[in-house]
Amino acid sequence: SDILLDVQNLRTCFPGKKKVIHAVNGVSFTVGYGEILGLVGESGSGKSATCRSIIQLLPFGGRIIEGKIIYKGDDIVKKSERGMRTIRGREIGMIFQEPMNTLNPVTTIGEQIQETLRNKGTSREQRKKRAIELLRLVNIPSPDKRIYEYPHQFSGGMRQRAMIAIALASEPKLLIADEPTTALDVTIQQQIMKLLLDIRNHFHMGIIMITHNLGVASQICDTIAVMYAGRIVEKAPASELFLNPQHPYTHGLMQSIPSADKKGSKLVPIAGHPPDLSVELQGCPFAERCPYCMDKCISEMPVPSYITEKHSCCCHLVGKLDFLNTNVGRSKE
Ligand code: SF4
Ligand code: MG
Repeated sequence: SDILLDVQNLRTCFPGKKKVIHAVNGVSFTVGYGEILGLVGESGSGKSATCRSIIQLLPFGGRIIEGKIIYKGDDIVKKSERGMRTIRGREIGMIFQEPMNTLNPVTTIGEQIQETLRNKGTSREQRKKRAIELLRLVNIPSPDKRIYEYPHQFSGGMRQRAMIAIALASEPKLLIADEPTTALDVTIQQQIMKLLLDIRNHFHMGIIMITHNLGVASQICDTIAVMYAGRIVEKAPASELFLNPQHPYTHGLMQSIPSADKKGSKLVPIAGHPPDLSVELQGCPFAERCPYCMDKCISEMPVPSYITEKHSCCCHLVGKLDFLNTNVGRSKE
């Protein structure tokens, strides 16, 4: 099958100060081999919680209460902690926003890569050679010298490359990248995204890219799932999402993308706040912030409607709103 990961109706909750927080509320998506899926939304929309559920590394007290996570045909929700240890890192790699928190400051970059290779029954010499190859693959200059350096000797962009090299050392089939470029300046951001594309092509791996920036997602993702209040509110192939956005929240995110062609025009942030996830919602989670909210939106939760086979949206007004003809949207020329 072309499907590497199949997440079905995932629900995850965390203990809050007084009540339980329903961070992920029935999320479903697939990732194919060689596919880059973007999970896009504001902070607190459940992107990271979804991905941490996949690898079962949830903050204390967090648990999956429903759903299936089928990885290569196996439901890994049922796996023991011991079973998950053979999947984390080896099968499913992760890179984070700030590599400094993950890299070991007192160990050389080369040793940190070789550490990951240790299980593979290779000699020290072979591991060193492979570490150099991996650093070369992520475009670290003079990798044969750089392997002897420590994380603090690397720039921010190089540290993120080194993190990617470490994640790739065990040749995972799925890579989860949680805001990997958020802390970097725009030029370095572009280079890291180009690198993720190269890696996808080289290893034919699936990648889940978490970002709050729809513009970033549009550059490398094949498919984009827009998350709001622990739900996927719209999902489509990236090009289709931009040509024909259906959810008012997606449209709101599009209007808040800074881009060259909109220079001078003002960015419109989405006013208001996401709903309290400790209270069970009756209606649309976006109702409070939605300019198109109707009575029905408050009383009835919208379910996914399909605009095309691959384009779904949870909104009572699907097919009735035409953002791009009535408003700024994202002009192509
Ligand atoms: Fe807005 Fe109603 Fe659609 Fe929700 S269902 S996004 S409130 S129009
Ligand atoms: Mg996050």
